[in-house]
Amino acid sequence: MVAAVDEIKQRIEQIRKEIPEGVEILGASKTRTIDEVRAAHAAGLFSFGHNYVQEARAMIPLADFDAKWHMIGHLQRNKARLAVELFDVVETLDSLRLAKELEKRCAEIEKEMPVLIEVNSGREENKTGLVPEEVGSLVEWLSGQTYLHLVGLMTMGPLTGDPELSRPYYIETRRLYEEIQRQRLPNIEMRVLSMGMSNSYKVAIEEGANLVRLGTLIFGLRGS
Ligand SMILES: *Cc1c(COP(=O)(O)O)cnc(C)c1O
Repeated sequence: MVAAVDEIKQRIEQIRKEIPEGVEILGASKTRTIDEVRAAHAAGLFSFGHNYVQEARAMIPLADFDAKWHMIGHLQRNKARLAVELFDVVETLDSLRLAKELEKRCAEIEKEMPVLIEVNSGREENKTGLVPEEVGSLVEWLSGQTYLHLVGLMTMGPLTGDPELSRPYYIETRRLYEEIQRQRLPNIEMRVLSMGMSNSYKVAIEEGANLVRLGTLIFGLRGS
């Protein structure tokens, strides 16, 4: 069922009241319609995330409003060219190979691209993202690039029912974020810490998130 426009607006207004001003809400828009996203935009959301290039490709051209489109799903290298054309931010940079491909594709169309490194803070196998120990060398490489600009970190944390269980992973990701900030490397400006989803955003904000990615809480359950 498609959530009613009024419902979406009310939910966003409610969340806005509960969270600090400096925290931005990104609408996680997988499986949603352009009408739902437009309603969220009318209620004051200006950033939206997609997990799949194909879905973004279908929706973004329909957007008759100004918004920033974030890639928040795993990005395959063979989709890099399209991703670079469609998105304003890539939150899920998770390997040097992908970074090289994105830099090359950005150079081809002379487009600068803010990127976040996705951190596998739970050190889970078969999970996308770099484990914290691997982040430093990618940061160093990014510091020397022309079109990619590292602006922050993103993490999912292990998916559990209890948001408290995510707290240590958010804390570790924030520490890493601050450590990179302190290095003051050229072409690196750490200003976005993207952590927290519908069930965990409060804990994430307590631990320093300034971008939360909300789907269910705004748009309702998926596929219902
Ligand atoms: C779907 C998704 C979200 C939002 O999840 P909800 O639980 O619906 O709020 C956030 N981040 C990513 C990467 C997602 O894929």
